[in-house]
Amino acid sequence: MSGISTFNPPVRTLMGPGPSDVPPRVLEALSRPTIGHLDPRFVDMMEEVKRMLQYAFMTDNAMTMPVSAPGSAGMETCFANLLEPGDKVIVCQNGVFGGRMKENVIRCGGEAIMVEDEWGKVVDVQKVEDALKAHPDAKVLAFVHAETSTGAQSDAATLCRLAREHDCLSIVDAVTSLGGTPVRVDDWGADAIYSGTQKCLSCVPGLSPVSFSEAALEVIRKRNTPVQSWFLDLNLVMGYWGSGAQRSYHHTAPVNSLYALHEALCILQEEGLENAWARHEKHHQALKAGLEAMGMNFVVKEGDRLPQLNAVSVPEGVDEAAVRRALLEDFNLEIGAGLGALAGKVWRIGLMGHASNQKNVLLCLSALEAVLGQMKAPIAKGAALDAAMAIYA
Ligand SMILES: *Cc1c(COP(=O)(O)O)cnc(C)c1O
Repeated sequence: MSGISTFNPPVRTLMGPGPSDVPPRVLEALSRPTIGHLDPRFVDMMEEVKRMLQYAFMTDNAMTMPVSAPGSAGMETCFANLLEPGDKVIVCQNGVFGGRMKENVIRCGGEAIMVEDEWGKVVDVQKVEDALKAHPDAKVLAFVHAETSTGAQSDAATLCRLAREHDCLSIVDAVTSLGGTPVRVDDWGADAIYSGTQKCLSCVPGLSPVSFSEAALEVIRKRNTPVQSWFLDLNLVMGYWGSGAQRSYHHTAPVNSLYALHEALCILQEEGLENAWARHEKHHQALKAGLEAMGMNFVVKEGDRLPQLNAVSVPEGVDEAAVRRALLEDFNLEIGAGLGALAGKVWRIGLMGHASNQKNVLLCLSALEAVLGQMKAPIAKGAALDAAMAIYA
């Protein structure tokens, strides 16, 4: 094993689909002394994390806590707990993550009724209503609020209302939306919702905040079959994270990662949710002005776009991977590639959480212009920074 020593990562600017830049305060929290996960001081901190997650999700749901694993495990927690074999689920797919929801339904022994929309479009609420009418026995409606593979934001309020009107529970993917755009769990009446720490919360990856309504918990308590995943079974997790829980040992919580989440949520509270949403919107407008001045086009139509995830088409004849490589090597800047149907066709530029700031917008525009200019790409030069600065003026 000669030659292996301490790993020192390069300092990057993270403007991809996540993880996003983690602020120094959060990294410092991560390095505080590890204490026992049943230590009374740690248990008090867990309570504060729950309270601050209720604030972030805009909910009074008692069952609001971070699953000790990344966003995909939050997704799996929702499906594994709410579904039993034979259950019918209406799954909306307009990108990569709806496809993963379908996988979850099938692996839980359920039946997925797909409502598909083109990549880059939002979920069509009329098609969802038609599917709910055609399948009155459906138990759950599942959809992605913020589709990170395309940058489209669907109408979660209407979709949750339709679910309720048709006696369905709703499962909502809010991995990329939480902290970046409004996620109003109680106003929407969402039943099961999950997020991630590494997107607009600007915390390290590896935790998945979730929240469950009383109706969802009732369904989970009354299951006929045990949840097939021991680790994700909320009936067991409730004994650890639940209100008035005995804090009996279930698994060892990721102690230091939870310090980091606590700090990230403190930062969110200090800024205020509304201010965080407004900040994401402002920097999105500046980035958009700059990209459009260069002649680039967004994948998603105006009004349906996520401010924190900007998907733009790669200009004609440009080797998109070479551009990302040059940005990383010469500017220490990471942007995202296209996924699935959009692979090779788009770039995904994230302005998530702490990374949503003026310095990053201007860095990204100047770096892209420099790299594309060197490659003789068909873009307009010299206009992007002025256009962005005009938004800030
Ligand atoms: C990132 C993401 C996930 C998965 O989260 P991981 O932390 O990578 O497991 C799920 N859904 C959406 C919409 C995402 O953007």
